[in-house]
Amino acid sequence: MNPFDLNGKVALVTGGNGGIGLGIAQGLARAGADVVIAGRNDAKNAAARKTLGDKALAIAADVNDGAQVKRMVAETVKAFGGLDILVANAGINIRKQPQDYSAEEWHRIVDTNLTAVFACCQAAYPEMKRRGGGKIVTIGSMTSIFGFDVGPIYAASKGAVVQLTKSLAAAWAKDGIQVNSILPGFIDTELTQGARRNIPGMHDRVVNRTPARRWGEPADLAGTAVFFCSAASDFVTGTALPVDGGFSSSMF
Ligand code: NDP
Repeated sequence: MNPFDLNGKVALVTGGNGGIGLGIAQGLARAGADVVIAGRNDAKNAAARKTLGDKALAIAADVNDGAQVKRMVAETVKAFGGLDILVANAGINIRKQPQDYSAEEWHRIVDTNLTAVFACCQAAYPEMKRRGGGKIVTIGSMTSIFGFDVGPIYAASKGAVVQLTKSLAAAWAKDGIQVNSILPGFIDTELTQGARRNIPGMHDRVVNRTPARRWGEPADLAGTAVFFCSAASDFVTGTALPVDGGFSSSMF
């Protein structure tokens, strides 16, 4: 038996239409899972779905809308008969100095990166319980560990995601559901391309600070996601694993 085999498993990846979410969705599909991706942008949804094989499904959904979250899970279950894996990946950032944020921006970031992660986990829980178990992966960040001068709200939300992950893991272990977090290092996606363009020296600072001496690619997250979503990690729960080329374990 291959402990990483996901054949027969149904996976839902929020924000799966691009960047890290798509890298993870492609990894889960390659491991055999039936994959559903969810995002707001129809064109991105359609293009990403094509890379995931004939059976894959893309659902238009905004994770900040509770009714749409419930519909997203219901449509997944209707299409594939159940839900075994949730990757709560959708996330945003707005970069500026702490003193310059509006209250609306605080809520937009926290709603997407934290509140919606909880809502997706809550919506997935009864379906996983019904199947006798499941796997949930949340996405933290280096800012789950370190402070970020131009990302204080993002860092607060990503720190909280790790604590949420531990609590869900503790609560739902009895239901056979494992909940773990991946903490990506600096990954080349739409989210970071703006920062690389707009913050002078950002690209080189990341390369020089990362022992692997490169930015990560979305595909770098796939293997860890498959591990957390498969039987290989059945006795692993409540953890937060950096996938960062060594960024978080090195002084320089
Ligand atoms: P991208 O901006 O490339 O992708 C973000 C994804 O989230 C898109 O698919 C977007 O789709 C979706 N999304 C955003 N808001 C919503 C919403 N309200 N409802 C549904 N979907 C939404 O970012 P990344 O791939 O870089 O980021 C993915 C995750 O990884 C985030 O949680 C991010 O914080 C985290 N991360 C990223 C790092 C990096 O270096 N790139 C480092 C550490 C963590 P659409 O616009 O169609 O809705």
